[in-house]
Amino acid sequence: MVEHVIPKTLREALEIINDGSFMLLAGGTDLMIQHRSSAHTPPHFNKNVCYLSNLKELKYITKDTHHIHIGAMTTFEEILSSPLIPLIFKDVIRDIASQGIRHLATLAGNIANASPAGDSLVYLYAMDAWICIESLKEQRICPITEVIIGPRKTTIKPNEIIKEIMIPVKQYHHCQWVKVGPRKADAISKVSFVGLAQIENEILKDCSFAFGAIYKTVLSKRDIDKTLIGLHTSQINQKLDEFIHLYEPWIQPIDDLRSNKNYRKQVAINLLRDFLLKLQGK
Ligand SMILES: Cc1cc2nc3c(=O)[nH]c(=O)nc-3n(C[C@H](O)[C@H](O)[C@H](O)COP(=O)(O)OP(=O)(O)OC[C@H]3O[C@@H](n4cnc5c(N)ncnc54)[C@H](O)[C@@H]3O)c2cc1C
Repeated sequence: MVEHVIPKTLREALEIINDGSFMLLAGGTDLMIQHRSSAHTPPHFNKNVCYLSNLKELKYITKDTHHIHIGAMTTFEEILSSPLIPLIFKDVIRDIASQGIRHLATLAGNIANASPAGDSLVYLYAMDAWICIESLKEQRICPITEVIIGPRKTTIKPNEIIKEIMIPVKQYHHCQWVKVGPRKADAISKVSFVGLAQIENEILKDCSFAFGAIYKTVLSKRDIDKTLIGLHTSQINQKLDEFIHLYEPWIQPIDDLRSNKNYRKQVAINLLRDFLLKLQGK
């Protein structure tokens, strides 16, 4: 028999999961599918379950000078309705699942599920987001790249809970989100892309790119992105092939039911090239 518990506070939840025997359930939109049983029978959980969605203290969105802070139990629909959230992030979220799912699904769940095709992750990687993780004994704040380490693999320990997602406040005037899926709604990405750039007086001051579904985690390479910084927009075309050549070895998609690796690789390169070409003359 497994135990099902619904704590009322974060402290209570941390005490309950401290022995490491519990599975955390937020919106349940991934977990209920992963543990589904045959038709008309309840999902089969083989581990104790701690339900987090009642934790009102983890439902918030605030902003200070440096970060937007999103509490772990904030649902995608709540994020969509906040005036503090950048429009590009709202574009990403509108492409996640359907409205019904988004009323339950959380950003923390998307992170902990650690799918290379997780849509919100593409934006969080491009923004160099930080994740605040708490256990009874300590709190740690890590870059998202140190939390997600492989398909469905994270560094979150069984006695830890994601408490908050911190998105740096940065100005990007040129933003693009593209989700290539098998159909318009309710689709898992074949390839996804976020491009962000800041241009001042025709000089590229900052840029950041991230890709979903083409590597073992969402792919972002800030060291490569930096090679474009300082270019005049008229120089982007000359530098394009060299820049794409730096990214190419990292674009390592797989063949699966949704798509094949050659298609994915070519689409990812085309999306990057298209975004950069559009920056010319800005
Ligand atoms: C029909 C359908 C369509 C979907 N479409 C998309 C889509 O377009 N794009 C997309 O990216 N995803 C999609 N998903 C997947 C899913 O909705 C998202 O991954 C969602 O963000 C999961 O959030 P959740 O709160 O439901 O997580 P849950 O299912 O509750 O949990 C997911 C994982 O996160 C862990 N977890 C949850 N909260 C915490 C926490 N605070 N701390 C530590 N671990 C935690 C759980 O233990 C579990 O391992 C879809 C799902 C369905 C069913």
